[in-house]
Amino acid sequence: MSPTRDIRAQTEEDLRGWLKSHGEPAYRAEQILHWLYRQRATRWSAMTNLPGGLLKLLDQDFTFHPLNLITRQGAPDKTSKFLWQLHDGSLIESVLIPASPALYGDPSDRSTLCVSTQVGCAYGCRFCASGLEGWKRNLDPAEIVDQVLGTERWLASLPAAAETQLRIHNLVIMGMGEPLANYDNLLKALRILNAPWGVGLGARKITISTSGLAPRIRQLAREPFQFRLAISLHGVTDEIRGKIMPVNRKYPLRDLIGACEEYLELKGRMLTFEYILIAGINDSLDQVRPLAQLARRLHARVNLIPYNPVEGLTWTRPPDAAMDAFLEGLTKQRIPATLRREKGTDIDAACGQLRLQTERAWRKQIENPKTAP
Ligand code: SAH
Ligand code: SF4
Repeated sequence: MSPTRDIRAQTEEDLRGWLKSHGEPAYRAEQILHWLYRQRATRWSAMTNLPGGLLKLLDQDFTFHPLNLITRQGAPDKTSKFLWQLHDGSLIESVLIPASPALYGDPSDRSTLCVSTQVGCAYGCRFCASGLEGWKRNLDPAEIVDQVLGTERWLASLPAAAETQLRIHNLVIMGMGEPLANYDNLLKALRILNAPWGVGLGARKITISTSGLAPRIRQLAREPFQFRLAISLHGVTDEIRGKIMPVNRKYPLRDLIGACEEYLELKGRMLTFEYILIAGINDSLDQVRPLAQLARRLHARVNLIPYNPVEGLTWTRPPDAAMDAFLEGLTKQRIPATLRREKGTDIDAACGQLRLQTERAWRKQIENPKTAP
């Protein structure tokens, strides 16, 4: 059976239709959804108020593959990186930025989870670990949804956490893969994550990051959801952007800007530009003015991100003073900008790196079992 038949890839409507076709009462949908999204059940036998016959039918028609947590890096009160194994053995990552200042601190603070949408990535940006070994496959909706549920299961396993600290409050679709290249599965997953019968995350708490697939941005602008949109810009001329992002050849800045304008017009929401600062590539101060002009035109805030070194890539991060000067330049132009000194550098937080390291170590182990740790 296809993995898209996973029980966590079904909407309430899908479930009701399925129950009806099996002569089961509609209220069972509510019970099943309660087990999946409130109780975060990972097996049929946990659903104790469902009759055995129904459980058997569910098991026949749907798969139920919770993600398998392979490793987690980081202290519970700091940024954590989760490495999950999928049912076909593939590895993906999610990154949890917990409610600050500490997980058990002020409960009004909110946690953020960064999730993956593909195994690998086909877009091959020159600075990114996720694209280094190409694209393997799209994640199905359940594999996207279960990154949230799996992280909440881990939070629930921590001692003495209050209920508000067990939930993910903000979601960023900024992990491995290009979300808009897996459009249908992403939208289905987001519908489930957003729905009151599902995970119940507000659309305004969900940010989708894209390397700039212009036609898909236009399509997203027409969806009935108020998702936030982040553009991985990283260069403000075609020359610079083209050098580090091959996608710019297909959708040059003119197309991308046109699509962003449409998103802005239809949604009326502020955009975010992601801009990784890479020494000698895009960090020159003469980039500040054109970047500020574009940000003003598209009503965007700018997230400056220090380049995070990736094994096998030669780029470097600019000195702190250069990054501070770039930020100051934008601020002087009255552009809302931040320099994200990532909490996760020490655990290789730029997504894709933990998977890369683990796969390389596993490969070595298979090729040369005697040197296995
Ligand atoms: N494919 C989508 C979403 C995933 S990549 C996109 O490109 O927007 C998203 C982000 O990963 C990038 O914008 C950047 O913020 C981050 N990233 C990737 N490689 C990085 C690196 N080496 N250093 C710092 N951030 C990196
Ligand atoms: Fe893919 Fe985004 Fe990485 Fe580019 S930055 S290779 S689009 S994951």
